[in-house]
Amino acid sequence: LVEEALHRRAGKPISIQAPVIKRSAGANPYDFLIVGAGFAGSVLAERLASSGKRVLICDRRPHIGGNAYDCQDAAGVLVHKYGPHIFHTNSEEIFAYLSRFTAWRPYEHRVLASVADKLLPMPINRTTLKGLYGIDLADEQAAAEYLKTKAEPTPEIRTSRDVVISQVGSHLYRTFFEGYTRKQWGLDPSELDKSVTARVPTRTSTDDRYFLDTYQAMPADGFTRMFENMLDHPNIQIEAGVDYNELDRKNLAPRTIFTGPIDAYFDHRFGPLPYRSLEFKHETHDREQFQPVAVVNYPSLDVPYTRITEYKHLTGQQHRQTSISYEFARAEGDPYYPIPRPENQALYKQYEALAREQNDVIFVGRLGTYKYYNMDQVVGQALATFRRFSATEQKLNGA
Ligand code: FAD
Ligand code: UDP
Repeated sequence: LVEEALHRRAGKPISIQAPVIKRSAGANPYDFLIVGAGFAGSVLAERLASSGKRVLICDRRPHIGGNAYDCQDAAGVLVHKYGPHIFHTNSEEIFAYLSRFTAWRPYEHRVLASVADKLLPMPINRTTLKGLYGIDLADEQAAAEYLKTKAEPTPEIRTSRDVVISQVGSHLYRTFFEGYTRKQWGLDPSELDKSVTARVPTRTSTDDRYFLDTYQAMPADGFTRMFENMLDHPNIQIEAGVDYNELDRKNLAPRTIFTGPIDAYFDHRFGPLPYRSLEFKHETHDREQFQPVAVVNYPSLDVPYTRITEYKHLTGQQHRQTSISYEFARAEGDPYYPIPRPENQALYKQYEALAREQNDVIFVGRLGTYKYYNMDQVVGQALATFRRFSATEQKLNGA
């Protein structure tokens, strides 16, 4: 087991000490074992610990935060190790909950797509159309009418291709979506559920923000610091760098919350659930700024990566150098994205049915419930899980 602080940034370190698990014969030292210290696991750890439960949370990675983990690179620039994470939500409850553990830096995300030697706003808006076609559409109505002439009638909108073609037609689809999606998912948009490209709807306005949510902000001192604050509780023991399968789970905790891949928990009994993986090439450059916005997308199949992220735009950090990452989608590697398509959903349903039969384990999170969830949705799911758990417990206690 890990002996020393694995995770150290400015301020208070998280200390992971051995021996972690003190057992007295036959007794469970913890009420809950939580597998995965991302949003799902950490929110539940915090809620359960605050309600008096003793929690052991482990993560196979040597740090907390899951995919939202950020850290300083060798140059001292704060980067997101697993790609750009921008917090956005319409839920006041979720924003208020997270605000207990962090102050915020207001930030509205903007993305440009590199197309025909130009950088054009994404999602497609009136400025995009002007930049691409040189047409000046006076207002929203003019843009809507223009797009209507391009849109192709699609009787049933089922796939990620249908969604785009039915709104903006083939040319814009091919220019902005087809190549990017093929790279990102290793599938044609026609093979993916409509919900995937529907995340980036076309606009008739000139609003060039990527998200329109009520709350859009970055944790003022980074995501990892927010997780440190969340998990800083005497009832929580953290085991980073420890895989669930390595733990001696006998008499450890009567209940488990599993936020890793659900198919892995069941030893892939029905076959592996498909996930998409990523690889990042991180670089530091000797100049203050690399690109005009945090993220530039590269929809062309001629470019091997999908996007370049420059982190200082997200964090507001002042530094004479700047760090970026190139993002390459991969078939093999750590699971990052569940792949939304009907056959995968059907396979997941088999695992979900099996999960329902277990009394001592609950599955939560993006990998645990095989859902293409944003951070706020995972927080909402974890809070709802806690509420259900509390209600059941109260009932059992006759309250
Ligand atoms: P994770 O963060 O994946 O945490 C699960 C943890 O479980 C991992 O740390 C893993 O190591 C651990 N684990 C798995 N198996 C085991 C095991 N056997 N033993 C021990 N530990 C295990 N969302 C947004 O809202 N905004 C964004 O801008 C955004 N950008 C994203 C960009 C990228 C590149 C990616 C991949 C995702 C992005 N997301 C974004 C989504 C966001 O990352 C997720 O919603 C969120 O992090 C999911 O939290 P989680 O706890 O469910 O899963
Ligand atoms: N997408 C695209 N071109 C873009 C941006 C997005 O084709 O320039 C498609 C692509 O299939 C992508 C999906 O829309 O996977 C969702 O985009 P989002 O930015 O939400 O992806 P994430 O940040 O989750 O990777």
